[in-house]
Amino acid sequence: MPRRELLKKARRIVVKIGSSLVTSNGSISRTKISRLVKDIASLIRDGRQVVVVSSGAISAGCGALGRERGNMSIPEKQAVAAVGQIVLINEYRACFQRLGLQVGQILLTEDDVKHRRRFLNARHTMNTLLEMGIVPVVNENDSVVVKEIKFGDNDTLSAHVANIIEADLLVLLSDVEGFYRDLSDPEPVDEVYRIDEDIWRRAGGSGSVHGTGGMVTKIRAADIVIKSGEKMVIASGKIKDVLGKIIRGDKVGTIFVGKGGGLASKKRWIAFNMPVKGTITVDDGAVKALRESKKSLLATGITAVNGKFDLGDAVEIHDAAGNPVGKGIVNYTFAELGLIKGRKTGEIRQILGGTYFDEVINRDELILL
Ligand code: GLU
Repeated sequence: MPRRELLKKARRIVVKIGSSLVTSNGSISRTKISRLVKDIASLIRDGRQVVVVSSGAISAGCGALGRERGNMSIPEKQAVAAVGQIVLINEYRACFQRLGLQVGQILLTEDDVKHRRRFLNARHTMNTLLEMGIVPVVNENDSVVVKEIKFGDNDTLSAHVANIIEADLLVLLSDVEGFYRDLSDPEPVDEVYRIDEDIWRRAGGSGSVHGTGGMVTKIRAADIVIKSGEKMVIASGKIKDVLGKIIRGDKVGTIFVGKGGGLASKKRWIAFNMPVKGTITVDDGAVKALRESKKSLLATGITAVNGKFDLGDAVEIHDAAGNPVGKGIVNYTFAELGLIKGRKTGEIRQILGGTYFDEVINRDELILL
């Protein structure tokens, strides 16, 4: 099937809208928002579910307060975002309401996707809004985030939102037409299947054709989406009926295509949201069991344990040469693993003196790298 045909089937879509598409001369623009909202509403009328991730809180706040964006301190930006987010959401509310749709606002920080319970809470809320026919409008919670818990950009945030709701398509709308290998290219690259070194370099590394920022965060989002098995499109929000065109399979922007089959939600969370707290080195037999026989990780194949982790933490599994093989949630602490590594499952109870899991990492909580 031609890959653009795949887009016709998308049922759950996250649409990320960049600041430049909702503002005009430094203030929020109802005309611009209303045009995009019409496009989104037609997707919904067509039986699809859409979550909007919109930037523009800081720009809207600057407009409302008559301030320049340039020389603000971080607390000032946070204060301006607190004012601007209301302006922004009110515009979405007014525009969707005219078309008979309600919006619900969700503001997230990176903490919300790192902690399993909060991740699940966000997921339940978004799923419920979608089931109720309400359009979730998401932004980063700019007024309270500090550097440590910040996504920092809405491209990355929208890829996480796509994972939270297991969307089958993420569309990044901004003022760029797509991903270009070289700026002299007349048209953006049509399709990308893998984010390799060359793409990273062209997107933002030294020698980038894209200059600063912008593209590297979009490629980071694409990397998450591809690894999750789904699809992403980068396109210009200035194109008339852009979402309709994308969904009909017209050639617009750049499409990034994952292998399909969508990674289960829990595995996405393990892959992209859990910090790695340690490493477990395994022998060749264990690597084979994980890769080829799709087995769980047992104590018997473990040769070394590094880092101080608790049960329930995520660890990386390495082969004897130190290459990453997988990542998963571990059922034992680092100290326990130190005692049971290399031992048969039947011996675990005797060594640790209690009833424990058979697997050190269960297959359902394990992803291969
Ligand atoms: N959350 C920011 C805002 O609403 C935008 C971040 C971004 O554009 O990536 O102003």
